[in-house]
Amino acid sequence: MSLKIHNTLTRKKELFVPLDPSHVRLYACGPTVYDHAHIGNARPVVVFDVLARLLRRLYPRVTYVRNITDIDDKINERARERGVSIAEVTEEPTRIYRQDMLAIGALPPDQEPRATEFIAQMIAMTERLIEKGHAYEAEGHVLFNVPSMADYGGLSRRNRKDLIDGARVEVAPYKRDPADFVMWKPSDDDTPGWDSPWGYGRPGWHIECSAMSREYLGETFDIHAGGLDLIFPHHENEIAQSRCCFGTDIMAKYWMHNGYVTVEGEKMSKSLGNFYTVHDLLEEWPGEVIRYALLAGHYRAPLDYSKQGLSEAKSALDRLYQALRNTDELESEPVVSDAVLAALSDDLNTPLAISRLHEMASTLNKSPNAATKSNLIGSAELLGLLGDDPEDWFKRGSSDGDLDDAGIEALIVARATARQTKDFAEADRIRDELLTAGIALEDGSGATTWKRAR
Ligand SMILES: [Zn+2]
Repeated sequence: MSLKIHNTLTRKKELFVPLDPSHVRLYACGPTVYDHAHIGNARPVVVFDVLARLLRRLYPRVTYVRNITDIDDKINERARERGVSIAEVTEEPTRIYRQDMLAIGALPPDQEPRATEFIAQMIAMTERLIEKGHAYEAEGHVLFNVPSMADYGGLSRRNRKDLIDGARVEVAPYKRDPADFVMWKPSDDDTPGWDSPWGYGRPGWHIECSAMSREYLGETFDIHAGGLDLIFPHHENEIAQSRCCFGTDIMAKYWMHNGYVTVEGEKMSKSLGNFYTVHDLLEEWPGEVIRYALLAGHYRAPLDYSKQGLSEAKSALDRLYQALRNTDELESEPVVSDAVLAALSDDLNTPLAISRLHEMASTLNKSPNAATKSNLIGSAELLGLLGDDPEDWFKRGSSDGDLDDAGIEALIVARATARQTKDFAEADRIRDELLTAGIALEDGSGATTWKRAR
């Protein structure tokens, strides 16, 4: 099956032809770790996790790199406020980030480099760009000289005049050109830094990804991914540094960008009180519900995240799990259906792939058969869904929390005993008590199963 992806470089959906079909290489920009990841940070993680799963299915070897930015002015500021090192500031958010992303079904990338471990490589690239006349030192800073690159701006399609007129660039007296951007900046005694040929200082953000992608994926690689907000300046400047440093025509052959996320119809912000962190959402919802809601729309479209959307995702997953639960007795091995593979191979059309899962579930409910069940499980696995045991899924939903699984099962046993002794009033009372706690019972042949009804 041929894979097509939308390439931001050309603004077109293109056939994916890897540079080396025996080894596909993918880089996605990761988080800056000073706070819990919000739902906007989680979207690229989930979307490009599906891409990595798909590439692994289509090609013999895939290297997926997703970095962690652990040096940044916001991190430095927190460290100063709290009187601790930046390593101490980033340790906890990094741990929670990894844990939360796993909880929403994102497999760990093959490499997860931390920026502070690659300072030497960043310095080496910066030196080389100075030697080649693409960068210069000024007052302890090193700046990339934008006019030195004839085709700068190809990804964002902005020319130098737009950049300057739009006042999107920081004006500083030491810049030769207003569009020039920082690759290295000086640190004072209170700010973290490293020794460099230009004095004690720290790297700019863009050079981090240029150096880390080069380290693991080479001077050119297949796909560079990230959120739409990174196209300019971050990705544009990564391209400028990498291409000018290594003298290549491309940095990555394909650039993929996911759309913006709003929450309850509005831009997410702490002051509006609609700042959803994955960590908080996981208190209320299974990780798979959060994941499903992120994949329910096409990755390039804007996505509005809402409580309503999460409820719908929960109900939709209940329907899929119910189909598996109903066909409990059928043996099945995971097999990806051609229809789901076709949907994902068409620029990661996850909403279409998900609707195919629901078609399979309907078929399974009407005429149980092992082949459809295999397709449902295998296809869902490619999307990172339905990995739970159906019984466990229904027991996991949200209830009032007073009754744990053991408590529920003890009541079910008590009810069965009451029925055996023909104390039907007591049996009914227990059923009502469970129902009030949000637990629905289903009496099957010989055994009673239960699920959390809300
Ligand atoms: Zn990056």
